[in-house]
Amino acid sequence: MLGPMPPARPISVKESERLVLPPHLIAEPVAIQTEYAELAAANHLSIPQAALSCGQMLELRADPKATLPAPTSWPCATTCALSHPGLLGMVRRLNGLGYRLVVDTSLRQPLSAPASRGTHAAQELLVRHLSTVGAYFSQRRRCIGIATDSAWHELIHEGCHATFDARVRQAVKNAPVAPEALQTHYEHLRARGYTEMGAEQYICHTHELYALRDRSSTTAAIRRVLVWDNMNLDAYRDLTAIPPAERSAVQKAEIRRIAMLRRFVTGPAPRLGICVAVAFCAVTSIVGVVAKPRSST
Ligand SMILES: [Zn+2]
Repeated sequence: MLGPMPPARPISVKESERLVLPPHLIAEPVAIQTEYAELAAANHLSIPQAALSCGQMLELRADPKATLPAPTSWPCATTCALSHPGLLGMVRRLNGLGYRLVVDTSLRQPLSAPASRGTHAAQELLVRHLSTVGAYFSQRRRCIGIATDSAWHELIHEGCHATFDARVRQAVKNAPVAPEALQTHYEHLRARGYTEMGAEQYICHTHELYALRDRSSTTAAIRRVLVWDNMNLDAYRDLTAIPPAERSAVQKAEIRRIAMLRRFVTGPAPRLGICVAVAFCAVTSIVGVVAKPRSST
C-alpha cells in the first residue's frame, strides 16, 4: 500500500507559462490528486513517493466580474479546449454544478519524460496509459481533469458526465426532480438493455458527436468517425458483457445493430477502405494532370 500523498508541487514558472488562457481565466495550483497519483493508489502500484508528484493540478478560475461579449465565431470542436471561447462559460457551468475544472499535467506527458525512462516498470506503464488519456471526470475528486492539449469535444464529453452526475445520478439519490432531457435519454437507453454505466457513456458520446457536427472541417469529420466508433465499441462491450443466455431480444437486436455499424461504417476495416479510396482518387487525379497532353497554341 502507498503511504500518504506528498503535498502538491509548487507551480513552476515553465508550466504556468505554457498555459495560454482566454481572457478572464486564471490557473492556480489546487490540492487535488493528479490522475497519475489516483491510478497509482487505486492499482496499488509500488511507485516511489518522489515519482508520485509527477504532474500537478491547476484549477481554472473565472473572474467573477468578467463580462465577455458573445463570441462572433464558434471554432471547430477539435480546437484546443484551453483556447476555446466557450471555456469561461464551461468553468462557470461546472462550478455551478459543484465541480472544478482543472488542468492535470500528469496527462499526455511526453514518453521521453523522466518518469518514463524505464527506471520503474509500473511507473512507465502508467505514463504510457496516461499519454492516451485526454480528459476525465472524477466524481470522487469532484472535478474534470484535462490535458494542456485536450480538444474542446473531449471537454464536452466530460462536461456531460458532470451534468449527468449532478442532474440524474445525484438528483435521483437526493430528491425526485422533474425529468429532464438527460434523464429521459438515460431511461430510453436503459430500456434498450444498457447498464447504468453503459447508458451514461452512450449519452456523453452522443453529446461529443453533436459538438463535432461541423461539416466544413475535415479534421472534425475524421474525429467524428473515430468518436462514433469508440461509442459503438463501448456500447458493444457493455451489452456483450451480459451472458448470451441472459440477453433479451432487445439487447440481441442492439448488439447486431452495433456490430453491423462497426463492420460496414465506423470500424477499422471500413475506415481503411475509405483511406484507400481517397488515396486512389488523389493518385489518379495527379496521374491525370501529369499525363494530360499539352495543348498547342
Ligand atoms: Zn465517458
